[in-house]
This record gives sequence, structure tokens and C-alpha cells, in this order.
Amino acid sequence: MFVTRFAPSPTGPLHLGHAYSALLAHDMAMAAGGIFLLRIEDIDQERARPEWEAQIYDDLHWLGLDWAHPPMRQSQRQSAYVAALDDLWDRHLLFPCACSRRDLLLSGQAPQEGAEAVHDACHRKCTPQPGGVPYPPRVQGQHLRLDMRNALALCKHHNVAGIDDQHGLSFQETGPTHRGTVFTARSAYATDIADVVIARRDIATSYHLSVVVDDAAQGITHVVRGEDLFEATRIHVLLQKLLHLPTPIYHHHRLIRDEAGKRLAKRDDARALAKYRAEGATPTDIRRLVGLDHG
Ligand code: GLU
Repeated sequence: MFVTRFAPSPTGPLHLGHAYSALLAHDMAMAAGGIFLLRIEDIDQERARPEWEAQIYDDLHWLGLDWAHPPMRQSQRQSAYVAALDDLWDRHLLFPCACSRRDLLLSGQAPQEGAEAVHDACHRKCTPQPGGVPYPPRVQGQHLRLDMRNALALCKHHNVAGIDDQHGLSFQETGPTHRGTVFTARSAYATDIADVVIARRDIATSYHLSVVVDDAAQGITHVVRGEDLFEATRIHVLLQKLLHLPTPIYHHHRLIRDEAGKRLAKRDDARALAKYRAEGATPTDIRRLVGLDHG
């Protein structure tokens, strides 16, 4: 079975990059006789807008896409995130952290190419507290970080996927750049990824937690998304192991870039689908523009 999804955030207009991602995921699902689903990633209610969500439905329908079930909306999934956090917390896999909003914004969102590097000051300031802290810390204005040392110890204890210094966790990748089995060594989790933010104080979840919980809830077997999210997949695979959720197959596709070679961003209104539509472009023109005109 092939079940995939397109998961836009309603924080701006869809542009050519989104069109490519949605069309590719849809085409792959149809070619495999599978299912295409939609998920609205609106956990950040300060940035999400109903008008952008409405525009997403309108643009996707205009492109000729339809989805098998009503869209999943992350703003309605808080209880599922709380359940996952409770589960992790009960097993001493989280610890509270009092870092600044700026640090957390950088480390708790989808790490798109071109974004500033994650500020690691809070990694140094916030170390896990032995003995635990009263639960739930998030109502006390704290963020929650993964206790990577405990997480790796747990993986090792349960002999998860043979995690060791040579190998680590793996996932299957079918995208053009990293095709094959992708390993993340135990040492990379310990040093490069470390105590990643799992729940931001302001939204009580994070991109990483929500995407993992919701991919499982939607029964996603194949994740099709931009190459800028490739590295984040290492975190997602670990969270899947810790939460006993299946790991889908991943396909990280090339990014649509502007003339200067920069990844398109929400602020690139010049390439908004709505603008092309207003200028009289057809869905076939959009397919051609993103290099999907072969059939
Ligand atoms: N919501 C994310 C974005 O707008 C995509 C997340 C994903 O596909 O995993 O880029």
C-alpha cells in the first residue's frame, strides 16, 4: 500500500515549490494505486491564517488534486501530542528547559534551507535534571527537550535496530540525492542532534513531534517532501522508535529554486500560485514550470 500526504503550513501563499511537492506526491500515489492525503500544519497559531488555509484548498483543487479524506488539521490534534509527551515524560525521555523564545523558535520549527542555524546556547544552559521535575512542566512556562542520553540508552537496552557507534538508526530513502539506506550513528545523535526541542512552551508541541505523531495517525507509508527536511528525518526516525510508531519510506525531492539558486520561500510572492493563476496560467503550465510535464 502507498499512502502519502502533502503537509503545508497556512502561513503564506503556496508557491511553485509547494506545487511541485504536492503534484509529485499525488503522482507517485496514483502511479502506485495508492492514496493521497492532506494535512494542514497549523500548530503555530500565531502565524497560521484561515485565509491561507482556504487558499491552499483552492490552489490544490485548481491544480487538479483531491484527497481521500477530510484534511487533518494539526490545531485539532493537541490531545494526541499531549499523549505522546506524557508517554515520553513518564519514561524520563524529556526534560524542561527555560530558554529564550528566539532559541526555541529556531530549534522547534521545520528546519528549512536558508534558515539560520540552530542556536545551541540552550543545549549548554539546560542539562537534564536528575530526579525529575513536577509534571507537567509546560504549564510552568517551560519547554521540553529530548533527553538524548536516556533516549539512546533506551534504544540500546531494547536493541532497537542494532543502534551502535558504527550503524545507528536507519530509514529507507528513494529520493534522487540520498537514495538507499540512510544511517545515523549513535554518536551523531549524541553530538549533532543532542537534546532537541520536542515541545515549545508557546505551542506545547513542535514540528518534529507533530509530524511523527500525525504521519502515524494518517497511516502514511511514504513521505514525499523537500530535500531541506532530509536531516530532520533522523530526528523523526528516533522519535518513531521511542513512540513505537512505524517508520515510513522517505522521498526527499529536489527544491524549486529562483534564478539566484535560492530555495523559494513564502515571501516569494512573485512565484505564488495565485499570481500565476491571475495571469492566466493553466495547471499544465505549472507542471511544465516545475519539470513535471513528462506525463
Ligand atoms: N509543514 C512543513 C512545511 O511547510 C512540511 C512538513 C513535512 O512535509 O514533513 O514545510
